[in-house]
Amino acid sequence: MTDPLAGIPADKDTVAALDKAHVFHSWSAQGQISALPIASAEGSYFTDYDGKRYLDFSSQLVNVNIGYQHPRLVAAIQEYAARMTTIQPAFANDARSEAARLISEVAGGGAGGNGLNKVFFTNAGAEANENAIRMARLHTGRPKVLATYRSYHGGTHGAIGLTGDPRRWGTEPYITPGVVHFWGPYPYRSAFHSSSPEQECERALAHLRDVLMVEGAQTVAAIILEPVVGTNGILVPPDGYLAGVRELCDTYGIVLISDEVMAGFGRCGEWFAVQHWDVVPDLITFAKGVNSGYLPLGGVIINDAIAETFDQRVYPGGLTYSGHPLACASAVASINIFKDEGIVENARRLGTDVIGPELAKIAERHPSVGEVRGLGVFWAVELVKDRNTREQLVPYNASGADAKPVVELATACKQRGMWPMTHFNRLHVVPPCTTTEHEAREGLAILDEALDVADTYTGGA
Ligand code: PLP
Repeated sequence: MTDPLAGIPADKDTVAALDKAHVFHSWSAQGQISALPIASAEGSYFTDYDGKRYLDFSSQLVNVNIGYQHPRLVAAIQEYAARMTTIQPAFANDARSEAARLISEVAGGGAGGNGLNKVFFTNAGAEANENAIRMARLHTGRPKVLATYRSYHGGTHGAIGLTGDPRRWGTEPYITPGVVHFWGPYPYRSAFHSSSPEQECERALAHLRDVLMVEGAQTVAAIILEPVVGTNGILVPPDGYLAGVRELCDTYGIVLISDEVMAGFGRCGEWFAVQHWDVVPDLITFAKGVNSGYLPLGGVIINDAIAETFDQRVYPGGLTYSGHPLACASAVASINIFKDEGIVENARRLGTDVIGPELAKIAERHPSVGEVRGLGVFWAVELVKDRNTREQLVPYNASGADAKPVVELATACKQRGMWPMTHFNRLHVVPPCTTTEHEAREGLAILDEALDVADTYTGGA
């Protein structure tokens, strides 16, 4: 047999040239793209064509929770591909059935559980949110959806309308009417002038209650939120906030959608972030960590009450690849590996024993660090010009010359062999959930050194 991969170019220059000529990249001015060709990846590292290895503190787009090329996951995909690569959604399929059961189980469903018992599969996170808001609107018969300003919910038209961050601007006016944005809690830069987490919680809930009052709670189908806001700052809500939102939803008959596309599947040291606060949403959307992007997969976990709405009434939505067998087989394998290897527990322990304490020490050493916050393997280092005024090291949505201090910091990390995620005035420490303590310490030591670059832009407070 000829090499099945014959035709895929082997040299770096051809890969780069073909990318430049033919690949249209996400969220980019195409003429400014110069994508780094990556040759291979294993565990917590990926390697370029010159043999330079990077410790991945970004998990790519915060999705490679299980690390690269996990042998058992790769083998499961290979074996299932040899058995069956595709079958359309209307047939029952072993991998799809078991993936749905397992995902419900880790969400707390099952006999005597919390009612999160059904899964609608999509290809990724944005489509999961599209379907969640469709379900909520049809279930309640109401038009509006509330979402937070500091959020990202996906790049498709409905999901970008839910999104509060600047990625929404380029698509406005968005085509999903009835989306209303509100402010979630953010103690370090409180919109509510609070001085304690308790006060932040109380005032953020009072704000949401006011928004519901003026919008008319009876017109609101759903509140969607990231339980721990991801790209927009790793904002860990104060204790009591999510429970308070749950209570408001119960009072007014509103569907609570927890967007766990980034926060779920181990990232926060739990299967789902809401479990950290014992809150049960009506719908959970997921993608990324469900199978670490080895194949595209996302979905909505649906509670019994909403599922019943569509028992006799047709659900008006579907996808050719809903519950793709190969993607579902990879989810089954991935969840079982997570259980067998204690990967959720590893993420939790890394947060409490290594990343949290080390980042706290790093913050003491560097005047450019205003705050560190997070849990599990989900941490933000918030960078400031001045700790007293909390002026951001670079402005909101900075680009070009304005973004220079953070770009230089990221470059300093990369030169030393660590690949960070940066966003606005923050550097996020978001390694795979399988990262070892040794690797975490190695990456944090690099960050410690690299932060000297950011310090040069401060007043030295
Ligand atoms: N929701 C959240 C919280 C996300 O972080 C993302 C992607 O980063 C999405 C939704 C969209 O997911 P996808 O890019 O898989 O469509």
